[in-house]
Amino acid sequence: MIELAATPAIYLCVALFGLILGSFLNVLIYRLPLMLESDLDITPKETFNLIQPRSFCPRCKTQLTLLENIPLLSFILLAGKCRHCKQGIAMQYPIIELASALLACIAIKQFGLTANGLFAMVFLLGLLALAIIDINTMTLPDELTLGLLWLGLAFNLFGSFVTLEESVLGAMIGYLSLWLVFQLHRLLTNREGMGYGDFKLLAMIGACLGWTILLPTILIASISASVIGITLLLFGKLKKDSAIPFGPFLALGASICLLWHDQLNDYFFNY
Ligand SMILES: [Zn+2]
Repeated sequence: MIELAATPAIYLCVALFGLILGSFLNVLIYRLPLMLESDLDITPKETFNLIQPRSFCPRCKTQLTLLENIPLLSFILLAGKCRHCKQGIAMQYPIIELASALLACIAIKQFGLTANGLFAMVFLLGLLALAIIDINTMTLPDELTLGLLWLGLAFNLFGSFVTLEESVLGAMIGYLSLWLVFQLHRLLTNREGMGYGDFKLLAMIGACLGWTILLPTILIASISASVIGITLLLFGKLKKDSAIPFGPFLALGASICLLWHDQLNDYFFNY
């Protein structure tokens, strides 16, 4: 792939592309958990997947026209309200679209308009979708974690991002390390602290970025989860025995490690 110089015009295109991907991410975040839920239901039902039916208002179920479905712009033009039922559109939609545009630009700034840049973009947006789904539903769908795990292995087959060896070891150590922590925690406290989705998520992160990224990812995830957990407890937003999802923190750790791995290494290990 030709590496193009990153001009403002290129960033504008990348940001617009990111907005469109963000709009797809919104569909994924809303529909994938519902699709998985309805898979368990054996009664005949209407087709419901990522493409069908066309986008609709989740409150009044009115189908949206093309003009009501433009990323970000429609939200601004409609002043954040559905044109039919006048109820507010969830802020999650424009926030995800904006975040996707921002992440797309950051990926291209860091890795250039290259195959690695596109891979970093897909990885970051995948993590964003997983983090929000985990916050909303406390699950990390296999369709995303395992799908991206295979993508990471395939992409690194020829050493594109990390060597194949680092990638395979990353997937194995990623899964096993959290599985061991889980078993140890269960043995000591008789409670389950994490879900199997978390192991698969860390395996996916290892497959994409290699095993060397795992320790700093877990460190950042554990520290940020503790800070947020304690803050929520202090402000009474969390009950003592209730759980917070760990996926968003793993996603945060992996994103930081992907973008600032060299700087982190310099800072901590001086090489
Ligand atoms: Zn509506």
